[in-house]
Amino acid sequence: MILHTESLRYTYGQGKPIHFPDLRVNAGDKILIMGPSGSGKSTFLNLISGAIPLQSGSIQLNGTPYGDLKPSALDRLRADHLGVIFQTLNLIPYLSGAENAALGLRFSKRRQSRVEDKQVEIQRLALALGLTELQLAAKASHLSIGQQQRIAVIRALLGRPELILADEPTSALDPVSTDRFVREMLESFDPTTQAIVLVSHNPALKQFFDRVIEFEDISDD
Ligand code: ADP
Ligand code: MG
Repeated sequence: MILHTESLRYTYGQGKPIHFPDLRVNAGDKILIMGPSGSGKSTFLNLISGAIPLQSGSIQLNGTPYGDLKPSALDRLRADHLGVIFQTLNLIPYLSGAENAALGLRFSKRRQSRVEDKQVEIQRLALALGLTELQLAAKASHLSIGQQQRIAVIRALLGRPELILADEPTSALDPVSTDRFVREMLESFDPTTQAIVLVSHNPALKQFFDRVIEFEDISDD
């Protein structure tokens, strides 16, 4: 199993605890998380990606529980097995699209070893996602949001990490581009070894996914 979360709960400061549904993810799974704003979708992805610490419950990635690891080992586990596309894309503005994409391999020897030729692999993914060579060569700050989102997807897919996490990656796109973007993203991952968990509030995306998980409004209970 690629990911298993159990009894996860998270509390910000003095706020109300947020409870999360248990999630089991296997290779080939395409999972869409939906739910109203504030229902904890980003918090859930942030727990899995390690942007916020585990407080209660358990997360296993590729069979390894987070709670058993020292911080450095946990960082390595995530770098090896997770490709993350945050809402804020976190591209480095003065680097080219291709250079930004290549950063996906930076912290993982395992992912580096799976890519024979970095440039060739970046170009292959760029082609699949509808990015041109010119756009790969351009500074990230000169690319449109849609193009930047595609660069962030290449960065996340490079070296075939088992789990792709994406937090509203289509929020800046119009409906036609959104359709195309999601279809292309799902076609560029390897269903025999990889899975994707994508967060969106856009119901039009349901058709592309095989499991939809609805997070509940938590504002008044
Ligand atoms: P979603 O992504 O579904 O919109 P979030 O996970 O961002 O939801 O937020 C869930 C709840 O946690 C909301 O009530 C939000 O206000 C609160 N929250 C999120 N981030 C923080 C934070 N850094 N500090 C305090 N409260 C937060
Ligand atoms: Mg969010």
